[in-house]
Amino acid sequence: MTSSQPLDLRLPTPGCYNDPERAGLDAKSVFDGMTEHLFFTLGKLAPTASRHDLYMALSYAVRDRLMMRYLATTEAMRAHPQKSVAYLSAEFLIGPQLNNNLLNLGIQQEAEAALRNFGIESLQQILDVEEEPGLGNGGLGRLAACYMESLASLKIPATGYGIRYEFGIFDQLIRDGWQVEITDKWLKGGWPWELPQPDEACFVGFGGRTESYIDDKGSYRSRWIPAEHAIGIPHDVPVLGYRVNICDRLRLWRADATESFDFYAFNIGDYYGAVEEKVGSETLSKVLYPNDGTDEGRRLRLKQQHFFVSCSLQDMLRSLDNRGLPVEDFPKYWTVQLNDTHPAIAVAELMRLLIDDRHMDWDKAWDITSRSVAYTNHTLLPEALEKWDLNLFSSLLPRHLELIYEINRRFLQQLRLRYPGNDAIQRKLSIIDEDGSKAVRMAHLATIGAHHVNGVAALHSDLVKTDLLPEFAELWPEKFTNVTNGVTPRRWVALANPELSTLLNEHIGEDWISNMENLRKLEERQNDQGFLEHWGNTKLSVKRKLASYIHRNTGVLVDPSTLFDVQVKRIHEYKRQHLNVLQVITQYLRIKNGQADGMAPRTVIFGGKAAPGYYMAKLIIRFINGIAETVNADPDMDGRLRVVFLPDYNVKLGEQVYPASDLSEQISTAGKEASGTGNMKFAMNGALTIGTLDGANVEIRELVGAENFFLFGKTVEEINDLKRSGYNPGAFINAMPELQEALRLIEMGHFSNGDSELFRPLLDNLTGHDPFFVMADFADYLRAQEAVSLAWTDRMHWNRMSLLNTARTGFFSSDRSIGEYCENIWNVGPLNVDITCDVR
Ligand SMILES: *Cc1c(COP(=O)(O)O)cnc(C)c1O
Repeated sequence: MTSSQPLDLRLPTPGCYNDPERAGLDAKSVFDGMTEHLFFTLGKLAPTASRHDLYMALSYAVRDRLMMRYLATTEAMRAHPQKSVAYLSAEFLIGPQLNNNLLNLGIQQEAEAALRNFGIESLQQILDVEEEPGLGNGGLGRLAACYMESLASLKIPATGYGIRYEFGIFDQLIRDGWQVEITDKWLKGGWPWELPQPDEACFVGFGGRTESYIDDKGSYRSRWIPAEHAIGIPHDVPVLGYRVNICDRLRLWRADATESFDFYAFNIGDYYGAVEEKVGSETLSKVLYPNDGTDEGRRLRLKQQHFFVSCSLQDMLRSLDNRGLPVEDFPKYWTVQLNDTHPAIAVAELMRLLIDDRHMDWDKAWDITSRSVAYTNHTLLPEALEKWDLNLFSSLLPRHLELIYEINRRFLQQLRLRYPGNDAIQRKLSIIDEDGSKAVRMAHLATIGAHHVNGVAALHSDLVKTDLLPEFAELWPEKFTNVTNGVTPRRWVALANPELSTLLNEHIGEDWISNMENLRKLEERQNDQGFLEHWGNTKLSVKRKLASYIHRNTGVLVDPSTLFDVQVKRIHEYKRQHLNVLQVITQYLRIKNGQADGMAPRTVIFGGKAAPGYYMAKLIIRFINGIAETVNADPDMDGRLRVVFLPDYNVKLGEQVYPASDLSEQISTAGKEASGTGNMKFAMNGALTIGTLDGANVEIRELVGAENFFLFGKTVEEINDLKRSGYNPGAFINAMPELQEALRLIEMGHFSNGDSELFRPLLDNLTGHDPFFVMADFADYLRAQEAVSLAWTDRMHWNRMSLLNTARTGFFSSDRSIGEYCENIWNVGPLNVDITCDVR
């Protein structure tokens, strides 16, 4: 190796790879990238490559193009530090990545052209291969994913911090009408979108004890001696914005054992004890808890929460150290958003890191913490409000409990000054619940530690102030605010509904994708018959695709020209899938009794998972499938009524369902659904809503106009009145002969092959306590469904209403939500460095 010419090893321009060809955006570069990855990364020759190989090769090629932008963004943040968002969430339901990244890079067609060289006809064939990481339960996790995409698209520097669950939300099978849960092995084929960063691992302690000591400055201090440790290894997923060069990241922590073996235990012959710690800490990030909105108070769950929160805060502090920025400036460089109370331990953990590790005094540490942290409340349901048993908490996080006691002591002192002699208010607001067995109330910890507390829809934020935390709201009125949820128009319109996107692009231009308010331009076409027909045909072609999916996956043949009436979301009594089913039975009876005049022919579609331990929700799935079986087998129903349960509802399936829907079922008991985001995805894609005045339905109706929305049901106040006066569902049932007939049919076993016991618990629930006021809203729901049927008969009018739903729901873009968080809560702006590694 004797060369007179020295190698040119200059680093590329900050963040940009020095060979632009290597990451070009034309079809030839993408093809070259695929070829290279097939050969070198996957060890395959093109002629023998499977579809999965091609998916992997294309994904790696796309990832290279993200990497350029990701490293440029990182470099810009190193060289020119500015405030960044840390979005802490126990769930990120990000969905498939490939097509989203192609869309945001603007190379869907180039990728398709590259694939043709490998004998693949359409991009879709490769997209179908992708497994989605189910790292969330439903709306909350999906919201976090939409927010990350909007942050990047708005060029806001951000990291989403969460857990890399080895097993995400279970896969759902339907066997004999029942839900069966299968482990979600999303990593089995290899997942090309993450980069493990073992060099940036963090240690996290659990258990043990605290001890006090006098430090070398003579100050009294406390320190934590944990009994066990875990290591968090970051796995980074690049999050590219739409047609920008900013690439944010999702940093998901995987737990590992500190030592593969405890050598001391090994030496004394305790082999099983030695491996126990390894097995124990690996279990930390093993599985996502599949309970949507119910708090189980499980020890491992608290461990998971502390694990990812501690790693994330350490990571933020380290990023300051690495850039030579003082810890005191933490709030200047990080704004920490808590997505619900799952990461609320952050309040105590940041205090601990500042006081114990950085030797800061209490007041300074509290100032930093409370200027950095903000909290989003997601629910009013009492069963969802996280409370940790005090014994469990102190055994796992003894130092945090000490700090929480001190936070609480100072807070109660403040309360005593404000409300002298009012012991009741102290008991009510204390972080420690002293009623019954003692517990730590995480919502109180979050509220006290946060500079802002927001609800997720206007109605919900009002209820947070009046019902959930009224005394806190009186104490700190300026803390409480609203940010109505949103969804990203990239995934939920541009990517999920290419047919509609093409139509929009042709008629109003492409800029609606990054400025959804521009959809208003559609209103000019609301009386254009030709355009409305085109609108209807576009919907029909999307419905044909879903019909084919339904046939392939359930064997049921559905007619795309019928009204697609859809309820997809987690199965929960408060969401009232059973209200929908009862209405379907009424339709069935009317057809049977020859009273179906004017009834729109419908395909009623359900989808959603039930928490594995939620008996009533699982019975509702069985109920839907029982009705579907009877209805679909009855020749009298042909051309009039079909019922379908789509198994394994997830993001990928959602992308097929929302665009193909005519009617969106948003029928929760008023006051129970905080916001909903499914409702927004439907409306943007031109579905009309039948819904209660709950969550963001209220704002949807205001925006699209009451005449373009099918409203029914009792309001929050009316529900409260019913509760106060002693609600009796029997009184409502007695007034509705049709409902009685439906209930009788169920009771006789008509939908369960003569088994009159199967659905009894459901019937007893509805006719007994009816905790979600199904019976109270039934008559009005039927009336609203008749209005739907009537509206469907005038298809041009329907299309006009559909068009207006799309035109007027730009407000629900997550770009708008993120804009509000930036302005009102985070005080952050776009990256002020121009990143120009883009070759376009
Ligand atoms: C949007 C979405 C949800 C939330 O639906 P809601 O109707 O708001 O409950 C749940 N799951 C998936 C897969 C989603 O895409």
